[in-house]
Amino acid sequence: MMKGLKESPPFQKSTACPSSRTLLSFRTERLSASISNLVSYHLSGCEFCNCELPLLAHYHSSFRGDNQTPEIPADLKILAESILQSKKQNWFRSLRSENR
Ligand SMILES: [Zn+2]
Repeated sequence: MMKGLKESPPFQKSTACPSSRTLLSFRTERLSASISNLVSYHLSGCEFCNCELPLLAHYHSSFRGDNQTPEIPADLKILAESILQSKKQNWFRSLRSENR
């Protein structure tokens, strides 16, 4: 939790992140129990996927089926970034008031 207050790592999918299609399948409950467990474990530690998951639902129709998974649309990334930003600000604010 307290990993220092310097720059956070770039806000993007890591290699450990499940693909957008996997996340979407997780959301629509099309995964086997074991994979579903893995994804939920990943979600507990990954802010990006936490932000991405609900947003993916908006793009569900364009992701359907086993076609190629498109890149994350730029506006989705911006939206996710702004969600993360506001989370961080809240966190900093609570940190400040505790240290006063
Ligand atoms: Zn992730």
